Amino acid sequence: MKNLANHLLVDPGSKIKLADFDPDSTHGVSKSAAAGHLVKNLERLAVLQYMLYAEARRSLLVVLQGIDAGGKDGTIQHVMSGLNPQGVTVTSFKVPEGAEKRHDYLWRVHNAVPEWGKIGIFNRSHYEDVLVVRVHGLVPKPVWSKRYDQINDFERMLNANGVHIVKFLLYIDKDEQAKRFRQRLDDKSKNWKFSPADLKERGYWDQYIDAYQDMLRKCSTKCAPWYVIPANNKWFRNLAVSQILRETLESMDLKFPKPTADLSGIKFE
Ligand code: AMP
Ligand code: MG
Repeated sequence: MKNLANHLLVDPGSKIKLADFDPDSTHGVSKSAAAGHLVKNLERLAVLQYMLYAEARRSLLVVLQGIDAGGKDGTIQHVMSGLNPQGVTVTSFKVPEGAEKRHDYLWRVHNAVPEWGKIGIFNRSHYEDVLVVRVHGLVPKPVWSKRYDQINDFERMLNANGVHIVKFLLYIDKDEQAKRFRQRLDDKSKNWKFSPADLKERGYWDQYIDAYQDMLRKCSTKCAPWYVIPANNKWFRNLAVSQILRETLESMDLKFPKPTADLSGIKFE
């Protein structure tokens, strides 16, 4: 498990190529070893979350991005399952509607940032505004191309004010997406997840890869790093995300707050 996070980190400023990443990679970890590590990570995450909640002065924002069927929902289900629901908020960002459409693109995002003590999970995020919006030209290039800097400024501001940020790109390949779409068609209990619109998006695969690549190159920063998670193997994806979350929370040096009174003198019947 040593150095797994380092291997998956997008070094700030590096000109990474997504084509160099293997979505099948398991970084030498076996499936059986991963199962044991995952259990330990989830146990530790529960303890760390409890401390974050008790401390109540900072928060953790987890950003999940990935192509359709990339495993965003599954990651939330399997990696966050050990957390106390009281301390977690999950926000799924959809096509903007209503008041969202009448504001700048960060308005709804800022509103969903986790309060102190909490872990906030973004299932899609403000990055859609340089992904789907770019791929489909929903705003002109001079507008979306300025957003990378705006997003970096926004995240830097959040971080300077106590919001720790970690971002995951769940990276599958086109064959794996086809396999998962087919499962959605074959399995009656998964039919609801299938949307013909997803097939249309599949036709823009290469444009999405370009957009992901720019997002990673421009917006992996020291205070809000991107990690590329090889996600063809769900068990490895879950292990990697849990490991990085654990290390991120460990690095926050969480402390229980001091008791508000001298507890040693307290007596009661
Ligand atoms: P799903 O994640 O399957 O529920 O789908 C949500 C859809 O909302 C995806 O197709 C996203 O691309 C789309 N979406 C999310 N944020 C935005 C945005 N800012 N602008 C346009 N579409 C968006
Ligand atoms: Mg979808």
